[in-house]
Amino acid sequence: MDTIATDTIVAIATAAGAGGVGVLRLSGPRAASIAHLLGAPTLRPRHAHYARLRGADDEVIDDAIVLWFPAPNSFTGEEVVELQGHGSPVVLQQLVARCIALGARQARAGEFSERAFLNGKLDLAQAEAIADLIAAGDHRAARAARRSLDGVFSRRVEQVIEQLVLLRIHVEAAIDFADEPLDTLGGAQVRRGLAAARETLALLRRDAERGRRLRDGLHAVLIGPPNAGKSSLLNALAGSDRAIVTDIAGTTRDTLRETIRLDGLELTLVDTAGLRDGGDAIEREGMRRARAEIERTDLALIVLDAREPAAGEAAIGESMLAVPHKLWIHNKSDLLADAGQGSTDPDRVFVSAATGAGLDDLHARLRSIASAGAGEQVEGEFSARTRHVDAIERAQDHARQADGELAHEHLELAAEELRLAHDALGEITGQMSADDLLGRIFSSFCIGK
Ligand code: GDP
Ligand code: ZN
Repeated sequence: MDTIATDTIVAIATAAGAGGVGVLRLSGPRAASIAHLLGAPTLRPRHAHYARLRGADDEVIDDAIVLWFPAPNSFTGEEVVELQGHGSPVVLQQLVARCIALGARQARAGEFSERAFLNGKLDLAQAEAIADLIAAGDHRAARAARRSLDGVFSRRVEQVIEQLVLLRIHVEAAIDFADEPLDTLGGAQVRRGLAAARETLALLRRDAERGRRLRDGLHAVLIGPPNAGKSSLLNALAGSDRAIVTDIAGTTRDTLRETIRLDGLELTLVDTAGLRDGGDAIEREGMRRARAEIERTDLALIVLDAREPAAGEAAIGESMLAVPHKLWIHNKSDLLADAGQGSTDPDRVFVSAATGAGLDDLHARLRSIASAGAGEQVEGEFSARTRHVDAIERAQDHARQADGELAHEHLELAAEELRLAHDALGEITGQMSADDLLGRIFSSFCIGK
């Protein structure tokens, strides 16, 4: 990848639509000269200048404040010019067109942030935090993204990387003295160091998972045997007729999503096809998706027909043992002879999607699960993404493997596992990222970021 851009990019940086002020951003070697050709006076670095910006016909397009940030002291690390004109989409589009006529190119989505990353102004996790800050749904998510943008998350990652680098140096050095047993080369010390690194990783994983939840919300799936009332419950919780409710077993073939917000956390409810064997190709595809949803979920809401819960529990089986939280929902409580039946088990709740009985209780339990471990204010809380949590998990796997290899004095294999752990963490900050990964990350940004 070429880290020194030779072209100058332009984009509207403010939100689409009309506003009091609209900002155009130019970045690249020709940014200042394009501003001059538009009508800007001689620019002093980081000073506000008034200018009348003109089109090819010399007609004034708009008057504007012009700011020049010479390289490398700018957001992208390149020459940057900001034009603050009136927030008219028509005027701003005319200015963009004029800049392009004068030699700039329309910026791709995320290209300003990408250049900032490539020029070492931000690491990858920080660049992602910009997008997360802009998209934050509440003040807490915004504050967490702000911290990641400030490098709080990246520093935690760097801290583990430093631990791993020291271990790699030790192990690589020991390989060069292959005749000696590891113990005489400080093997116990290396294994203690690795244990400490693994502890740091576990804490990082926990906090990154929390940060991911702040960004994405808690993910929950509704699951259970056909006709237990999953779709009805989804509708009752979401307050809409989103899912199709019918009497025929196996009607819910696709996964349907509904999002509800509880105390600033997002619960995505996925109504899955009943987990049963057989069925046609479409139903099997529904089941495959259901299993994929279960694998990545934080919370399984297991919906049972209150009249025959045992049958439902048996049908679900072992498929979700790894899910962090489970709540057993006995639905259709209105059909029970003893309608007043409650539950003292904190993981079980009796409801009726039809009458609404017990829904308040269910809401309360969902709220408490949603805020468990995330409800209290955590010092140094930062935002993270699934991609980051995955990378930390891979690093943990490799660190565990490394420990096993060390125990057997397989130094080369241990060194390789430590390298892989290091590489996995390097993907978070972008030290180790492939071009296609970068492309995917930055293309998900908006234009003008
Ligand atoms: P799913 O297959 O688990 O999604 O179940 P549905 O939501 O499609 O519901 C299956 C049938 O049970 C429908 O006829 C619903 O009207 C009915 N049903 C759902 N919840 C309740 C409930 O709480 N009480 C009663 N009496 N019927 C319900
Ligand atoms: Zn359904």
